[in-house]
Parts: sequence; structure tokens; C-alpha cells
Amino acid sequence: MLLRLQKGLPDDQIETVLALARDLGYRTRFLDDRAEILNLEGPGRPDHRPRFEDLCAVKAVLDAGEARERHERDGRADTVVRVGEARFGGGFVSVIAGPCAVEDADRLVEIARDVRARGATLLRGGAWKPRTSPYSFQGLKEEGLEMLAHARAETGIGIVTEVLDPRDVARVGAVADMFQIGARSMTNTPLLIEVGRTRKPVLLKRGIQSSVREFLLAAEFILAQGNTQIVLCERGVRGTDNTTRNLLDVGAVAHLKLATHLPVIVDPSHAAGRSELVRPLARAGLAAGADGLIVEVHPDPGEVHSDGSQAVSPAMFGAIVEDAVALAALDERRVVLAQPLRAAL
Ligand code: PEP
Ligand code: MN
Repeated sequence: MLLRLQKGLPDDQIETVLALARDLGYRTRFLDDRAEILNLEGPGRPDHRPRFEDLCAVKAVLDAGEARERHERDGRADTVVRVGEARFGGGFVSVIAGPCAVEDADRLVEIARDVRARGATLLRGGAWKPRTSPYSFQGLKEEGLEMLAHARAETGIGIVTEVLDPRDVARVGAVADMFQIGARSMTNTPLLIEVGRTRKPVLLKRGIQSSVREFLLAAEFILAQGNTQIVLCERGVRGTDNTTRNLLDVGAVAHLKLATHLPVIVDPSHAAGRSELVRPLARAGLAAGADGLIVEVHPDPGEVHSDGSQAVSPAMFGAIVEDAVALAALDERRVVLAQPLRAAL
């Protein structure tokens, strides 16, 4: 590890850094004569890096060496996350689709069938909904989970659903094939740790005002527990303008593909906030290198209690999947499409 210390430090602060290094088992050597560039040779564990970063005498970690964090690309091949039929990363693009919230059992089965027939490999739908107001529809909770389990039994599609509370990880995990950690929960470290203790894939959404670094460190909490099955999701951050609901950060998508081996997908629905903008934003995300999409789809948005204005029709969803096939082919990637059901053949 290579550290840059603050300029002109008093001896006792330099000694604090050296003492920590010794305690953690490093040999230390200054590479300059002003005692500013400190080389550490030793165990190089990822959890040692923040120990140095937290010292006010340390200005920056110039080279993390072996202490690189677990999410870092570091020359590694893509992590491929497999969930049911879906594959994310390593040249595979997959599409998740469904309603914002689970509201009605029959409707859910109908949507599951429809999006699956158009290529979706996973069904999304919240049983617990994180809402801005405590008076808005909060989701059907346990009953919603049962509807999701029923939709999978009827159609064979895998389930992505949000877990809001660390105490619910076991019961949501009994139904979900992939946990969704929503934007409002990205900084809930007890929740990140709890899903990290499972070996179930996690869809981690970027916080509404979170930096890319904070996003990656949220993933690091899950990785540090030993769960490597993480798909990052860019869903737009709060901008200075409300023409769109959020500002889709396509630059972050392109950056993340270089900075981490974890797959990255885009949620054009929560970025757009309006159904007519979902398709172009989906295209933008894929063009920036996203390994997939998560799209809100509903045949009758007028009947729903959450996010109806950004739901696209099944037909529009089909067009988005066709775009994805064309865009993925541009850089030799492949969209993993749901296999037709036996019963439908
Ligand atoms: C959702 O997926 O319906 C949702 C609430 O998304 P986000 O956490 O990105 O706001
Ligand atoms: Mn939603």
C-alpha cells in the first residue's frame, strides 16, 4: 500500500501512522525525504485500507496494492450473476420487468406471462414498498409475497422483490430469487450485512443522492460478508431539474463497468418518471454498457397505486427488449431471453 501523508506533519502524528502500520504487521519505508510518501509492505488486507484512511495524518491512499477493495475491477473478469434463467455480466444482458408493486394476484400472473413471452427472465414487484409518505400505499406485505410465489408457480419466472427490513430477510428470501435493496435503503448497513450473510443474489440500487463511491461501498458491505452475487442498479440521482423524475447517470454506468467486476444494470423507469421517456433511457443505459434493465410494466397504469405514470405497456416493453438485442449485439454481447414455456409450445 502506498500512502500520501499531509504536508509538514509533527513527529507524533507521523508516529501514529507508523505505529498503526506496525500493529497491523507492515514494514514501513518513506520514499521521499519530506516524509510524505509512505510505502507499506505486508498483509495488504482490504479492511486495513480504511484504518489508514480514517487517520487525519493520511491525505490519500495512492495505491491500495493488495488492500484493494473486493468490488474493484483490478484486472478481474466480470462477475456473472445468475438468477434463474437470467445472467448478468460477462457479455450477458438480462431484462427484469413487472409492476412497481404487487397489487392483484391475477394481474400479476397476467403480467408475468406477458413480460416473459416478450423476453423478461425475471419478474419484479414490491410486496413491501418504500414510500415517501407514510400515508401512501405501503404494499401488501406477506400477502404480496404469496402472490409472487403464485406467479412463479404459474409461469416459471424468477422473482425480484424488495426487502426493507433486516428482520424480513429470511421470509422475503423464502420467496425471492433475488433481493432488491431500494434506493432509500442503500445506506442501511444492517440490511446490507443481513443480505450479505445469505448467498442469494442482490439487486442493489444506487441511493437517491449517493455518490458512485458510496454506492460501491454499499456493495462492499455485502461482499465483505461473503456474498458476491451483486448486481448494481443505476436508477437516476436527484438533479436540479424536475423535467425527469431523476437524472439517469449514464456516465456512472460507463465508469462502473471499468471500476468494478460486478454487473451493472439500469432502471429507466425511476429515472424517467414518465412512460414515454422509458424507452430512450433504456437505450441510453445499454449504450453506456449496462448488463441489463429493470423496467416497470403494466397493461392498465390507471388502476395502480404506485408509479403508474412511468409504467410502460407490454407492447412497449417488447420494443425495449428488441432494442436491447440490437444494442447488445453492437459490442458482441447477448440478451438472455426467457425460454418459451413448455405449456405454451
Ligand atoms: C422500485 O423499484 O419500485 C423502487 C421503489 O425503486 P427505487 O428504490 O429505485 O426508488
Ligand atoms: Mn416503482
